[in-house]
Amino acid sequence: MSLLDALNEPQRQAVMATDGPLLILAGAGSGKTRVLTHRTAYLIEECGVNPYNIMAITFTNKAAGEMRERIDQMVGYGSESIWVCTFHSTCVRILRRYIDRLGFGTNFTIYDSDDQKTLMKDICKRLEIDTKMYKEKMFLSAISSAKDELIDPIEFETRAAGDYVKRKQAQVYREYQQALKQNNALDFDDLIMKTVELFKLDKEVLASYQDRFRYIMVDEYQDTNTAQFELIRLLALKYQNLCVVGDDDQSIYKFRGANIYNILNFEHHFPDATVIKLEQNYRSTQNILDAANAVIANNQGRKEKRLWTDNGAGDKITFEQLDTAAEEADFVARDIARRVRKGEYQYKDCAILYRTNAQSRLFEERFITANIPYKIFGGVNFYARKEVKDLLAYLKTIDNGQDDLAVRRIINIPKRGIGAASINKVALYAQEQEISFYDALCVAEQVPGLGKAAAKIRPFVLFIQSMKAKAKLLSVTDLLQEVIETTGYVRELEAEGTDEAEARIENIDELISKAVDYAEGEEAPTLNGFLENVALVADIDSFDENSDYVVLMTLHSAKGLEFPNVYLAGLEDGLFPSYMSITSDNSQAEIEEERRLAYVGITRAKKNLTITSARVRMVRGQTQYGKVSRFVREIPPELLSGKIYEPKTKEEPIEQSTFQKARKAFRTVPSYGGSGYGKEVGEGYGSTFRSSKATKPVYTKVENQRDFGSAGGALSYQVGDRVRHIKFGDGEVMAIVSGGRDYEVTVDFDKVGTKKMFASFAKLKKI
Ligand code: ATP
Ligand code: MG
Repeated sequence: MSLLDALNEPQRQAVMATDGPLLILAGAGSGKTRVLTHRTAYLIEECGVNPYNIMAITFTNKAAGEMRERIDQMVGYGSESIWVCTFHSTCVRILRRYIDRLGFGTNFTIYDSDDQKTLMKDICKRLEIDTKMYKEKMFLSAISSAKDELIDPIEFETRAAGDYVKRKQAQVYREYQQALKQNNALDFDDLIMKTVELFKLDKEVLASYQDRFRYIMVDEYQDTNTAQFELIRLLALKYQNLCVVGDDDQSIYKFRGANIYNILNFEHHFPDATVIKLEQNYRSTQNILDAANAVIANNQGRKEKRLWTDNGAGDKITFEQLDTAAEEADFVARDIARRVRKGEYQYKDCAILYRTNAQSRLFEERFITANIPYKIFGGVNFYARKEVKDLLAYLKTIDNGQDDLAVRRIINIPKRGIGAASINKVALYAQEQEISFYDALCVAEQVPGLGKAAAKIRPFVLFIQSMKAKAKLLSVTDLLQEVIETTGYVRELEAEGTDEAEARIENIDELISKAVDYAEGEEAPTLNGFLENVALVADIDSFDENSDYVVLMTLHSAKGLEFPNVYLAGLEDGLFPSYMSITSDNSQAEIEEERRLAYVGITRAKKNLTITSARVRMVRGQTQYGKVSRFVREIPPELLSGKIYEPKTKEEPIEQSTFQKARKAFRTVPSYGGSGYGKEVGEGYGSTFRSSKATKPVYTKVENQRDFGSAGGALSYQVGDRVRHIKFGDGEVMAIVSGGRDYEVTVDFDKVGTKKMFASFAKLKKI
């Protein structure tokens, strides 16, 4: 079968239009990504283009990985030399080679948002800014938006004119950039901006990349920002072989500076552009598509598209309104368990999508007790954990002593008796001498006023220096082990003996596994390469298709993906669309952005879509009463199975009896013993690597149980027996208490201690 046989007519045209600018503008699931992979194969196999000359840019590493895999399957020889990357990793690769032309060292560090905050705190302190009035976050977000638009500190200042706050921001921006440079560090936005700067400054470098990337393709083009557009424009300037695919209805990153005009004005930027539309959807059933079409039709100012499919009407969309968020999670867990039991789906066919990360917690609790394997993407990143950051800071210090933040992070971890006052003195000295913090530590004896503290600093410097020497000989894994050993990091945690310390040790083990993985996957592994690799992995990237687990992620991370069975959770006004969007001054536009997100969510589903909402939900410890989301009400009722309950009046959103029931139900929600996940809504709880030990569900008595299945009647174990739980491992049954239609079983697990769980959910096996 030829490459082109697997495509419909417009898709074929898009694949064969190899030369000159090409815009493919099409709705969800119409095969845009598929066109890109086939086009790549076609260029190589049919047009004889050297794979080395092809670049495909995507938004997430996960998407890049998938694309690479698909291309590998189609292209025989040489597919590994195709450049399939995200914007950020593309820029890192370019900057690692050439950033010295901008006065940075090529071993620069990449700062994550935590590092940025720490740096910003320092700057505000230095500039004596009242951070109660002007928050660090405000400055960081102003700087980030400026970078998305390629506005440097000088231009920022010019534009600020007489505006007081803007002038303050300009000053902070300038200081911030200087500090980054001193630390030989870049933030995420810098990666793109510095590459554009490099291309504009150095024609020779630009020309070499233009010659290399003769054919450029960009997926999810609707979410590019001005800086990314400029990057692409410069690269494509010489040969003009630029193919972009996107869907204006799926533009969901305005808050990150995505510029919808990049797609709407493509024909203006590239007057010779060919435009191709795709309208047949291959992913979803007609019912799902009709729902998506009906919802998105409420947006103004969009390019009209109507999707159709040959897939048949399919099942109706299930809508289920629950009393509480806990019941919502329960409902979804049961539904998945039921469908898997019936053989309808595997776990991996199922995805739960939600608006904010924090919503994942209840699902996670439910899944643990119900023994449903799951993985959470997004949320608190593994690499944002304290213990992981500490150890990485050691590695960064060993690799590049110029990163002040990393050095300051670990100077007193473990405790070396070096106080804040001493650290400030060193920092001040470093600033005066215009040297790095680490270099100042090296000459601690010369720092005025340090006194005895200098002697305490000495062993630290000696240790780092010896490690620097060893770094040339040891593998990353050995180096990491040696840091752990010498600093006594794990020993200290072991001595602590708490569950939390245990979980931290597990995370450290995970980091070691990561180092091993890295070394195995690289031809020439280096410490710097490892740190770079770590800086670029978002959680989404650890998505592993081969394992069977339910996927939990935010709607934003679900872009471009597809699942047979999708649950959209928390469809309540105030949650989705968000409270901010409803109350914003610019409400119309913000709700349209939320609606596009709803459209993305609905169109992820291939066969089954279930939408859920809760009448009562806790948000930041406060009870909220949510009305069913307007997006659900925009779906024609005939497509839905399940009724929308509407409150009678605005003043009394929920009847008293329902309210009381809901309150009661809340008391039965498992509460978390563990701490450390107390994040704001939107920042969330989840992580791919979360250890089950870190979350300690503690159950209060459960009343009003409903159908708990049949397992309760015939337990295969009794008190004193040894049992096995899929997540918690082996343990001894301590107590079995009848609780209505189910049994509450207390098990003392060897590794995680005592847990109470429901027999029908826990699926304990006697061993
Ligand atoms: P999104 O807007 O969500 O990114 P998309 O337009 O990129 O979607 P794809 O992911 O490329 O769509 O395709 C959606 C699904 O339809 C995939 O499973 C793909 O394999 C399938 N598909 C696309 N075109 C065809 C075709 N001509 N024949 C058979 N299957 C197709
Ligand atoms: Mg796609």
